[in-house]
Amino acid sequence: MKRRRQTPQWLVILIVFIIFAVLKISDGDVFAPSDKGITPNGTQPAEIADADLAVFFIDVGQADSVLVKAKDQAMLIDAGNNGDSELVVEFIKALGIDTLDYVIATHPHEDHIGGMDAVIDEFDIKKIIMPKVEHSTRTFEDMIDAIMKKGLKVTSPVPGTKYPMGDGEFIILAPNSSNYDDVNDYSVVIKFQYKDTAFLFTGDAGFESEHEMIEKGYELKADLLKVGHHGSKYSTSEKFLNAVQPRLAVISVSKDNEYGHPAPETIARLRQAGIEIYRTDEVGTIIATSDGERIELYSLVED
Ligand SMILES: [Zn+2]
Repeated sequence: MKRRRQTPQWLVILIVFIIFAVLKISDGDVFAPSDKGITPNGTQPAEIADADLAVFFIDVGQADSVLVKAKDQAMLIDAGNNGDSELVVEFIKALGIDTLDYVIATHPHEDHIGGMDAVIDEFDIKKIIMPKVEHSTRTFEDMIDAIMKKGLKVTSPVPGTKYPMGDGEFIILAPNSSNYDDVNDYSVVIKFQYKDTAFLFTGDAGFESEHEMIEKGYELKADLLKVGHHGSKYSTSEKFLNAVQPRLAVISVSKDNEYGHPAPETIARLRQAGIEIYRTDEVGTIIATSDGERIELYSLVED
């Protein structure tokens, strides 16, 4: 089920940027308001603008779109549903970004690549990473057309490969096989490391991919986990959580979605492990900043 939208979402987000305060939601400072907002020309609150690393979990409803900004470099992981195209493009522009150093299309489901053609058309893209799997949908064809039109070369994810970004780097951890029954398991999984802080982005990877990552012996430890598959019960196994040991979890999900995400079982597993859970259906767009030692969380919500 998609969210009802009376006003174009990009307009809503711009208004949100201008009018509403950025609220700090981590470290016990629940909704302690900051006095500054983000404006479309890229003016951001000092806490976010000065951050060496800022990760934006854009509220795209029942979908995924994460923007990572490290110094003067930027990466987009997924681009929401088709209907989120303008929202995602305007969000990136509002931060004053015109070049995406990396774009990752985790896997070819619409809720991850829906806005990808619009993003590819709009921005200068240095490297696009996507798994070797095709999908016979119009959305997938639109993305491929946009890639061809721009003459971009697609990079296949090779686990273990590291890419520098800002003062940090990210490493590809999955997919580790070339054939899966479930398209979700083709999800490109990456870990972004900046000094002592690490973020794990799992796309919609399920138990099979999680199991492979553990078996391969990758260093999976991360402070913040973007919970796999919108909190579905087929992701985020106890074994995987034990390997990652996150302190913070972010779930990208819409209210009252038809899939019942996030699953009560997954929420229970996260709670059992003592992990703080933040959800886009509850607090909207979530922003995580890191100075290399500490991660702070903020949210763009009505003051
Ligand atoms: Zn998904």
